[in-house]
Amino acid sequence: MLLEGLDLFMDSLSKSKYIVALTGAGISTNAGIQDFRGPNGIYKRKDIPGEKIFEIKYFNENPSDFYSVFSEMIDTYANAIPTKGHLFLKKLEDIGRLKTVITQNIDGLHQKAGNTNVIEVHGSFSNFYCLSCGKVFPMNSDLVSVVRKGKIPLCDICKAALKPDVVFFGEPVHGLEKALTEVQRADMLITMGTSLTVYPVATLPSYITDSTMLVIINNEPTQYDHRAKIVLNEDIDIIVERTKLL
Ligand code: ZN
Repeated sequence: MLLEGLDLFMDSLSKSKYIVALTGAGISTNAGIQDFRGPNGIYKRKDIPGEKIFEIKYFNENPSDFYSVFSEMIDTYANAIPTKGHLFLKKLEDIGRLKTVITQNIDGLHQKAGNTNVIEVHGSFSNFYCLSCGKVFPMNSDLVSVVRKGKIPLCDICKAALKPDVVFFGEPVHGLEKALTEVQRADMLITMGTSLTVYPVATLPSYITDSTMLVIINNEPTQYDHRAKIVLNEDIDIIVERTKLL
């Protein structure tokens, strides 16, 4: 079944002219990035107020709680390198087939892989900004060293706390309208490593046209499997290796 789907996938890749990819946590787990919603994810931990530290209201009142948790994770984000799944999408862009990556991930790995048109619906840790004046600070070694010590990084002008450019609970997602337009333009939509349960991103596949081929690559079933032409329930890196595009 997997092999059959793979043959069709590879054949369809070579015929598609406007591929859009929609990615989630599963594409980054092989890079050591934790799925917050996974079994050992941050939202499941009992020792910290998991989801609360990603609420905007709570963050504004208690930025130190967020940074004390983030201090354990910042090296992972700063040092992560793209997986084969990311490199596969870069390759698809290089050969002119992939036009856009829409991602729920906040790790910046699609840009690190070299993809140029990436819509980060939930923002990313690549940049931080001052809550007072809005000045933007890239995640550089200075910022990493402050956060690693468990301190709140501050704006060099007004000394206010910095917030990562990640969409917190209670904040609007980024680029949803553009993402929707891209999904409607696609002749192939590949969803990779997302269970398609987190809204509003989970609604995007429902906007494909009748002629769009939906391909789902995920290690477990999703609510859109019945609409997909190809469903591959296997590790992403194993699948993309077999396409021999890398
Ligand atoms: Zn400032």
